[in-house]
Amino acid sequence: MIVVLNPKATEEQIQHIVEKVGKLGLRANISRGVERTVIGLIGPEDVLRVTPLEVFPGVEQVIPVLAPYKLVSREFKKENSIVKINNKIKIGGDRVIVMAGPCSVENKESLRSIAEQVKKAGATVLRGGAFKPRTSPYDFQGLGEEGLKYLKEVGEEFDLAITTEVIDPRHIELISKYADILQIGARNMQNFSLLNELGQIKKPILLKRGISATVKELLMSAEYILSKGNFDVILCERGIRTFETATRNTLDINAVPLVKQLSHLPIVVDPSHGTGRWGLVASVSKAAVAAGADGLIIEVHDNPEEAMSDGTQSLLPENFSHLMADLEKVALAVGRTLQ
Ligand code: PEP
Ligand code: MN
Repeated sequence: MIVVLNPKATEEQIQHIVEKVGKLGLRANISRGVERTVIGLIGPEDVLRVTPLEVFPGVEQVIPVLAPYKLVSREFKKENSIVKINNKIKIGGDRVIVMAGPCSVENKESLRSIAEQVKKAGATVLRGGAFKPRTSPYDFQGLGEEGLKYLKEVGEEFDLAITTEVIDPRHIELISKYADILQIGARNMQNFSLLNELGQIKKPILLKRGISATVKELLMSAEYILSKGNFDVILCERGIRTFETATRNTLDINAVPLVKQLSHLPIVVDPSHGTGRWGLVASVSKAAVAAGADGLIIEVHDNPEEAMSDGTQSLLPENFSHLMADLEKVALAVGRTLQ
C-alpha cells in the first residue's frame, strides 16, 4: 500500500498518519521527495478496510500495490511517465529520442566532430563517458572533469543535451554541474548507496540493466531512486550475459514490452553494448523501436579502429546517419516519430 501525500501536507499530518498506522500494526516507510512525500506501508493491510486512510488530512491518494516495486509500477501510475530533459527534450512521449556519441570522451576535437555529425543526423543527446567503469584497472579510465568540460562545451555548441556515467557517489555533485542526464552503468545497477544518493537530486537518471539482472531487479533498483523522491528515471535495456558468446551480450528485446506492461517509466535500448558488434547495431536498433522503446543510446566514433574503448561496437558517423533515416520509417510504422 502506498499513501501519496498532498504536496502541502504538514509535518503534523504526516506524523498523525504514521502514529495511526503504527497502532494498527503497520510499518510506515516515509520517503520525502523534492516534490512530494509518500508513505509505504508494510504489514497486514486488511486493517485499513476499517480505517480508510483516504479520509486523513494531507492524504491525496491511497494505492494498493501487489508487486514488490511500488512507485515504479503501473498500478501506481496508469499513464506513461514522461521525463523532461532540460525542458526541451521529453523521453516517454510520442517521439523516439536518440542519444549518440563515443563510449569515452577522448579529446575535444574528436568529440566535437562526432557531436556535429550525430546532431546533423538527428540525435538530440550526446553520450560520452568521462569516468569509465573498466573491467581492467590498466585500461583507460576516462578523462574525469576535463572530459565533462568538453561534453558541456560541445553540447552547448551543437545544442545537444549530455548524458554521462556516474560511478561514484562522491562525483554526483561535480557531474551534475555538467550533465543533463546521469547514467548509471550496468555494473552499478545494484549499488544501493549510489541509488539512494541519486534519489535525492533533481537530475534525470538513466538506469542501465545489470549484466545479470532480471527485469524485476532492474525495477527494484529504480524503486530505490523513486522512493527517495526522484521520479525522473529512464530505464535502459543494454543486454544481459547468457551462454551465447558470439555477441558481447544478449539484448533482451522482451524486456521492452515487459517493462511497458509492468511500469510507467520510459525505457531506452542500448544496441551497442547489447551486441558488442557494430554490424549488428542497425538491425537491433530498428527491432528496439519496433518493440516500443522510447529511445536508443548508440556508440558512434569517427575512428573506431583507434577508439580508446568499445571501438568494435561503434558506428561510423555515416552509418549512424543511414540508420537514422531507416529508424524514421520504423518509428512512423509504430505510431511514433523520430524528429
Ligand atoms: C557505456 O555506456 O559505455 C557503458 C559502460 O555501458 P554499460 O554500463 O551498459 O556496460
Ligand atoms: Mn561503451
